[in-house]
Parts: sequence; structure tokens; C-alpha cells
Amino acid sequence: MEYANSVLDLIGNTPLVRLSRTLDLPGAGDGSAGGPLVLAKVEYLNPGGSVKDRIATRMIEAAEASGALQPGGTIVEPTSGNTGVGLAMVAQQKGYSCVFVCPDKVSEDKRNVLRAYGAEVVVCPTAVAPEHPDSYYNVSDRLASQPGAWKPDQYSNPHNPRSHYETTGPEIWAQTEGRITHFVAGMGTGGTISGVGRYLKEQNPDVKVIGADPAGSVYSGGTGRPYLVEGVGEDFWPETYDRGVADRVIEVSDADSFAFTRRLAREEALLVGGSCGMAAHAARTLAHELAGTPEGEDAVIVVILPDSGRGYLTKIFNDEWLAQYGFSSGNQVPSQTVGEV
Ligand code: PMP
Repeated sequence: MEYANSVLDLIGNTPLVRLSRTLDLPGAGDGSAGGPLVLAKVEYLNPGGSVKDRIATRMIEAAEASGALQPGGTIVEPTSGNTGVGLAMVAQQKGYSCVFVCPDKVSEDKRNVLRAYGAEVVVCPTAVAPEHPDSYYNVSDRLASQPGAWKPDQYSNPHNPRSHYETTGPEIWAQTEGRITHFVAGMGTGGTISGVGRYLKEQNPDVKVIGADPAGSVYSGGTGRPYLVEGVGEDFWPETYDRGVADRVIEVSDADSFAFTRRLAREEALLVGGSCGMAAHAARTLAHELAGTPEGEDAVIVVILPDSGRGYLTKIFNDEWLAQYGFSSGNQVPSQTVGEV
């Protein structure tokens, strides 16, 4: 019989799938022509639904080993997103409690996902100053200083990039039989690009590491100007980001990120999140630059798709939401309600 003992054993070893229709390259549709091959690493197939399952496991195991997390302890992290789901899943299976602190602007759906895994969610008012005792920062610091509490802190924890150095990087190297020439990833904490990038460059220093970044974020020279794509881009430099790893950063607008996210769903049947559309759009840009060049003949571009589109159905996959911000859905066939004018 073939089965896993726990969902934790199903983390990682995600597949690569070739992008074809969305690249708009001549001959790229059938895979027989030369030219850049663009392969997407599908991280939503992790059991918690995102790439963050990898760092959750590794950060918790390291804290157990160092004694920072004791049996029956409580994991406290100010997150409501993918890292929260990963931590909640691993914590439950290993018998720890989890408390997530999030601002009240976080949707009820996201809070309920965390609660479904058995985590506690503490909601803080957004409309108070950071020094207020009820602020997001003060509440999470107070909870994290309780006896038995441990805060992973994905923005400074070295086991975040290390998990990618130890799992994601080696998987990509083995899956491409060492033929990868370009690695593309979005950057939030920078853990993915730093860990994978370092591993790949150690195997072959010629591998190019390319960051994809929302216009406005510090990684592409911005000041933190607001953008709508979630999970990527920062207004500060996290400790988990290796500033020497990226050979280049490609800036992608929200409009391009969202339109491409919709195309991935409609044309590649990949229902993924907005940071996936952003990274895949950067990979497409790169493929176009390389097409027709001698370097492009053997180019193998791997792009990370961090999470699923299920978490964005009321945003990126909702035409009204897009229209509110002036974006087009890119639908060739607009959906219409009968009777609507
Ligand atoms: N996309 C999404 C949806 C994410 O949640 C994250 C993590 N913040 C990233 C991309 C970026 O990954 P990393 O933190 O490893 O840079």
C-alpha cells in the first residue's frame, strides 16, 4: 500500500509544468521547436496550498531542536496569509497551539481558514496608532513574550531561506537534470529567491537568478508605494533576503500581474494567485528577450507559482473588483447575466 503517515510527509516535491499558450512565442505551443522552455513549479499542490508549508516545517523543526519551542508550546506569529496556514497545519500535527494576530482589514474567510485548522485568531483594530496597547504590533509582542510562546518571525528566521536551499532548490536542479539556465521568483521575505538562488548558483554559477517585483516595492528601487498584488514586494529590506543573490529584478505592474493571473487560469488551467501572475509575466518577458538568440536555444526558465487562486476569487477573479481599480479582466468572452443590459 502506498500512503503518507501525515500530511506533513506530503510537503514539497511539487511538479514542474510547461507554460505554452500564455507565452505567445512562435512554435512554443507544441514543445517541439527550440527556444526558451518555461517551466512553472506548482507550489499550490503543497497540502496547505502554498510554498509556505516548506518554511513552516523547517522553522518549527529547528525551534524544536534548539529548545526555543517546548512540548505543548504556543506559536505566535503576526500573519493571516499562507505562512499562517503552513504553521497552523504543522502545529496541529505536532501538538502545538497557534495564535495568529491580524489587523481587522483581513477578510473573515482568511481568518476562518486558520480557525479551521484549530488556530486562534486575535483581531486588532487597524484604526489605532502603533503605540496603542491594542495595536497589531503591541498585541503580538505581548503574546509572544508569554511563557511557552515562540515567534517564528519569517522575516528574520534563517530557516526560511534554508528550507528553500534544502528542498526547493535541489528539487528544481534534479527535475531539470541540471539544465536550468534561469530562475524567476517573486520576493516577499525573499526566502525563496535567496535559498533557491544560492543553491542553484552553487551547482552552476552561470544560472541567472531573476526577481519579479511589483512596481513600487524596494526590491525594484521603489519606496514602498502601494500596489495591490499580495504576498510580494516590501517597503523595507528583510533579513531573510540575500541582497547579492539576484542578477536582475524585473518590475511588473499590478495591471500586468492581474491580467496574466487571469490568463494562466483561462489558458493554462492553472488557477493561481496574483504573485504567480506577476512572476510568470516576468518569465514571459525573459523568454521573449531570449527567443531567437543563441542563448535562448537551450534556455530553461523555471518560475515559482507560490499559491492557489482560490484565495483571490472575490478580488483578481472578480471583474467588478478589477474594474473598481481600472483593470481589465482580459476575458475574451465576457461573462454576462441574462437580462443584464
Ligand atoms: N507569493 C505569495 C502569495 C506569498 O505569500 C509569498 C510570501 N510572502 C511570496 C510570494 C514570496 O515568497 P518569499 O517570502 O519566500 O519571498
